[in-house]
Amino acid sequence: MTSLILAVEDLTVSFDGFKAVDKLNFYVEEDELRCVIGPNGAGKTTLLDMICGKTKPTAGTIKFKRFQLQDMIEYQITRLGVGRKFQNPSVYEDLTVFENLEISYPKRRGILGSLFFRRDRALLDKIDKVAEDIFLHEVLRHKAGQLSHGQKQWLEIGMLLMQDPELMLLDEPVAGMSPKEREQTAELLKRISSGRSIVVIEHDMAFVRMIAHKVTVLHQGRLLAEGSMDQVQNDPKVIEVYLGH
Ligand code: ADP
Ligand code: MG
Repeated sequence: MTSLILAVEDLTVSFDGFKAVDKLNFYVEEDELRCVIGPNGAGKTTLLDMICGKTKPTAGTIKFKRFQLQDMIEYQITRLGVGRKFQNPSVYEDLTVFENLEISYPKRRGILGSLFFRRDRALLDKIDKVAEDIFLHEVLRHKAGQLSHGQKQWLEIGMLLMQDPELMLLDEPVAGMSPKEREQTAELLKRISSGRSIVVIEHDMAFVRMIAHKVTVLHQGRLLAEGSMDQVQNDPKVIEVYLGH
């Protein structure tokens, strides 16, 4: 038996009459690692924006566990356990890797509050574990500004992991990464998807092939195809859309 963690139904958002997402149904199960692909402008980022509360839908519903998200604001959605990573990494460059992880720990919000509180065992253990997961244990004391672009992407994933989200939304997490870093990221996502659900938007098909269980293809705000990587890659509708670009 499987159960849904996310149910998006009839989701629509209209920007001055232009429907960036149009009557979309999208379901994610517990423990699932889902990839969402589609050409530029397909509505992928807008879909994540609506799930995390950054953009309000014009119509439709977004249910996360037993909660209706469409009328909530961003921080309420975050607190319920939805973590979002944006396309460009946003880490605190002047703080160390350790400090970036520390301030992301949910019990202490705000930079001052977190820098001056006694570092308890649970927090240190958590930072250790997360730093290991994101391949940054060796550089915990380095300033985030010294990291490579790929390492900054990992750190941002780590900052989300500090909050233990049940649903993680990642927008193009391997953009700007070397092939080696992409492989490591695939391994990382597989590892951290146990016990939570992850939705990954990605352009790089080789990367999608490495991680995906099920792939959703969006086109012009609508669902074009859904299934295994092989199913969607052999789908004439999908081939047409990708060759057309
Ligand atoms: P993707 O992430 O799949 O490349 P987006 O979700 O960013 O696509 O964008 C989908 C479409 O919606 C694009 O045509 C984009 O220009 C448009 N769009 C996105 N956000 C806005 C906005 N705030 N106002 C107007 N148009 C927008
Ligand atoms: Mg996008």
